[in-house]
Amino acid sequence: MENIFNYRIDKLEDYFLSINEKKFKATQVYDWLYKKRVFDFKKMTNLKKELIAKLETDFSIDLIEIVKKQTDKDTSKYLFKLADDNYVESVLMYHDYGISICVSSQVGCNMGCAFCESGRLKKVRNLETYEMVEQILLIEQDIKKRISSVVIMGIGEPFDNYDNVMNFIKIINHDKAIAIGARHITVSTCGIVPKIKMLENEPLQINLAISLHAPNNELRSKLMKINKVYNINELITTLKEYIKKTNRRVTIEYVTLNGVNDSKKCALELANLLKGMNAYVNLIPYNETNNLGFKKSPKKTILEFYDTLKKEKINVTIRREFGSKIDAACGQLRSKEVDA
Ligand code: SAH
Repeated sequence: MENIFNYRIDKLEDYFLSINEKKFKATQVYDWLYKKRVFDFKKMTNLKKELIAKLETDFSIDLIEIVKKQTDKDTSKYLFKLADDNYVESVLMYHDYGISICVSSQVGCNMGCAFCESGRLKKVRNLETYEMVEQILLIEQDIKKRISSVVIMGIGEPFDNYDNVMNFIKIINHDKAIAIGARHITVSTCGIVPKIKMLENEPLQINLAISLHAPNNELRSKLMKINKVYNINELITTLKEYIKKTNRRVTIEYVTLNGVNDSKKCALELANLLKGMNAYVNLIPYNETNNLGFKKSPKKTILEFYDTLKKEKINVTIRREFGSKIDAACGQLRSKEVDA
């Protein structure tokens, strides 16, 4: 039995055709699930009793569960318990332009970035599509508001769970489901080159963000193990091809770590690497965690880094800090729960 939230509408249409029902039943079911937010087949009153019984034997609508919520001003962090007692987290952020959610894509992560709390706990498994869809549905239900954008930047490496993540994106993007515009969906990767090439061919106008965090191979390999598999040169070449093919701007994420990657030399090297590319740099103030040795860069250093990039004509922004008081750094809430 599969969870109904794993199903794209075209797959649900195929299902109805396969049981000799009309295709539009899929739209009716989607309407209950995503427009009326009714999570019980028995309450889908425009379906015949026999069909409801059939749906109940073929699908589950089990929900993941919110077990903890921590709120600080414009940010809330949710801890979810999955059906097999694993935990993941999502972050809700209020911006002046709308509300965004940062969703997790895996339980734990195998990428092993030195500064990241999520990677301290190894990957247990990939999330299924429904577990990502429900992070959004349950948070919307909790706040009684609709969210406007989604970033796949929570626990996990989305491109290490490519198929489920793409399925998830197609569902939330669909008009008959949550209808979040593709331009309001961002997927962030540590740089899994073959999957960036696959994304190039998806008919989706979503945003791609790359966690670069260092401007040369020596430093990047120390911070991010993935660099030993796909190094900077290969990554940048792939991004240039991606930009050319899709005509879309790429975001380069750069977490500033005190005394590690925040020098003027690093900024110049980064500018040189990105020169002429349709990319913009998002400088991310590091969210310190208790378990890893890194410290955040002082404000002044971040501003100098920013100025250096600006002078070199690189588009750059500094990310607003969210939720540092509520353990909102990637994976912090889950790791507290698991360590406890
Ligand atoms: N695996 C994906 C997505 C999840 S991490 C990726 O690597 O992009 C989302 C972003 O948060 C990445 O840029 C990651 O490097 C960054 N990050 C991880 N730990 C952080 C911390 N403690 N403070 C600030 N950013 C962090």
